[in-house]
Amino acid sequence: MSWRDNLIKIEPYVAGEQPNKTDFIKLNANENPYPPAPGVLKAIERFNAEGLKKYPDADAKPLAAAIAKRVGLERENVFVGNGSDDVLALCFRAFFNSDKPVIYPDITYSFYPVWCEMLRIPFETIPVDGDFSINAEDYKRPNGGVVIANPNAPTSIARGLDFIREILDANKDSVVIVDEAYVDFGGESAVPLLSEYENLVVTQTFSKSRSMAGMRIGCAFGNKEIISALYAAKDSYNSYPMDSIAIEAGVASVEDEEYFLATLKKVIATRDRLTAELREMGFSLPDSSTNFVFAEHEKYRAKDICEFLKTKDIYVRYFSKPRIDNRLRITIGTDEEIDALIAALKEYIG
Ligand code: PMP
Repeated sequence: MSWRDNLIKIEPYVAGEQPNKTDFIKLNANENPYPPAPGVLKAIERFNAEGLKKYPDADAKPLAAAIAKRVGLERENVFVGNGSDDVLALCFRAFFNSDKPVIYPDITYSFYPVWCEMLRIPFETIPVDGDFSINAEDYKRPNGGVVIANPNAPTSIARGLDFIREILDANKDSVVIVDEAYVDFGGESAVPLLSEYENLVVTQTFSKSRSMAGMRIGCAFGNKEIISALYAAKDSYNSYPMDSIAIEAGVASVEDEEYFLATLKKVIATRDRLTAELREMGFSLPDSSTNFVFAEHEKYRAKDICEFLKTKDIYVRYFSKPRIDNRLRITIGTDEEIDALIAALKEYIG
């Protein structure tokens, strides 16, 4: 027996490549191509560095309050953390303590199995249909919790609230997490269902629709008991998760609704244009409700296209995983970036 036997054995989550160069088109991590709201920069410039000598507000209350006001909830219904990855990991720790398996689709955000392994939570994945649709019937079985990304990633497909309701109605004894990382790009948020379902938790992020991936801000919405459990988990691990600058910058983002909506509109218009162009070129892809598309070509292998695009300094995401290993996940960039992508694809396809 060696100390090596006691080291963690886990296959970690692999994030989109962050190439170590500057002049390239990055469409591989579902980042937003536009800058954060102008008020965010102002908040950072205004920030008094002297304040850094103190610990931040432990529960990021000003930010939780600003988010709560925007979505029409009480501050006690909102939890904020360092990106929704942090928030989701805490949710898994706080809510999934049953011997029964947590269930989620086989094709979804690949961090879920990593958290289950890391936190020793039993889990089962449920195959999605051939067209990647999640079947609510499959979630009517004993479980220790349910996680649904809606819209789902990397498929880009959103389901309506009737579907979320059907899952909630069948799972009154488990916490149901709805991961809404991409909801602002065309999904329907489950937040209005919080008043009806005490076991519902909704998570969202500032990384995509608010262009703040580099700052790490995510949040969860739920009833007060659920949110208290989340704070208890946080306070048993790291009582000061968000830094003081992020709290102020986050508030500034929430306060600029107009900029938020204008940015979404641009990303959505580019996405819809790219979708049409890709179909024209022989790609098939579901209608996207996110800031990315998930496309497969009828003749060319996704891996080869991905490698070719790299030679043109265009980075898209390819997953060598069963069922999706002939798909490209392409993040929506600026119009110029997407024009360059389309030109490169046309060159490859001929
Ligand atoms: N959920 C889903 C479905 C995602 O794709 C991502 C982004 N990788 C996240 C959560 C986490 O995003 P962040 O930690 O930046 O908030």
